[in-house]
Amino acid sequence: MDFINLRAQYQQIENDINKRVLGVLRSGKYILGDAVEEFEGKLADYVGRKHAVTCGNGTDALQLIYMAYDIGKGDAVFCPDMTFIASIEPAVMLGAHPFFCDIDRKYYNIDPLDLEKKIKRVISEGKYTPRAIVAVDFLGQPFDYDKIAFIAKKYNLLLIEDAAQGMGAHYFGRMCGSLGDISATSFFPTKPLGCYGDGGAVFTDDDRVYGILKSLRVHGKGKDKYHNVRIGMNSRLDTIQAAILLQKIEILENEIIQRQKIASRYDKKLSGYVNTPVTHEKCRSSFAQYIITVDGKDIRDRIVKYLKRMDIPTLFYYPNPLHRMEVFDKEICEFDSYDNTEWYCDCSIGIPFSPYITEDEQDMVVNGIIEAIKEE
Ligand SMILES: *Cc1c(COP(=O)(O)O)cnc(C)c1O
Repeated sequence: MDFINLRAQYQQIENDINKRVLGVLRSGKYILGDAVEEFEGKLADYVGRKHAVTCGNGTDALQLIYMAYDIGKGDAVFCPDMTFIASIEPAVMLGAHPFFCDIDRKYYNIDPLDLEKKIKRVISEGKYTPRAIVAVDFLGQPFDYDKIAFIAKKYNLLLIEDAAQGMGAHYFGRMCGSLGDISATSFFPTKPLGCYGDGGAVFTDDDRVYGILKSLRVHGKGKDKYHNVRIGMNSRLDTIQAAILLQKIEILENEIIQRQKIASRYDKKLSGYVNTPVTHEKCRSSFAQYIITVDGKDIRDRIVKYLKRMDIPTLFYYPNPLHRMEVFDKEICEFDSYDNTEWYCDCSIGIPFSPYITEDEQDMVVNGIIEAIKEE
């Protein structure tokens, strides 16, 4: 069994994908061009933003944002302790100082209380200037943007949405990708909207920032690529990947609906045995991952072992919180506690999930989990 079955999706759209890819190959135009522009238009419409600027991957999308807002040396950036390092890595690379916040125990997103506490501390210490908050649509679940946006405004911080896992999800009717002052996403193959390689995008409603992003992704170009007005990057979405994404975005909504159905089926069958994911009634998760939690590390490890014997893959997503990564200065967080991320790391398991997982496969996973729990 695959953890995420990407081949099943390709088999369903093979003819259309092949036609589009061949179209690019035959066009002789392989960088930017019509497919990229058309996809950017469709993507911006889908999430309800004025502009989408595509780029090489999700990490670059975040880097482009940090660069566009000149975030770097002396600046403080706040992010959840439980996320992929790429949420904050480019900011650190540019010289900014990261501050990790605990997550909330229900939706596993940045805890607004801990966030505000850390902002206040950074202000009172006076060593770094608070500049930005990165809110992550973790596991495809956006939360709690009302509170986070309120805090961002109160302290005059840029609210960056890392929507790498959130395409297709919404928060009170607003699509992920439109929830931050500026937002980033990734088209890594296993994300809800994935391509067949690397890709990413930035979303903004600000015409000035849009211009800067378009310049930054092509070496800080001015009038053209050989007239440079700022230090930039070389980060573009491949034309072939744009052609693939034009097909994928057509089926995204149906896939998200399918994800809801499979998630509720899992919910029903697993309830009473494990904690299933909780989605706020006014939100829709993209279920980038389907994560269950159990009462403790022992039982967690027993389930994983049991499933492994049945050849069912599981995933710790993620096994380590950022505050424990040796790459970060211990000074940042040595006096802080991260009870909820520690708990999440010990007690959560990702189980096989995709819009294409069959009912037989789902039942195998469910039975494996239940048997493992009863085995004791
Ligand atoms: C995948 C991911 C990224 C990075 O995307 P890439 O395309 O792999 O560079 C950033 N943030 C989060 C939360 C992600 O899941």
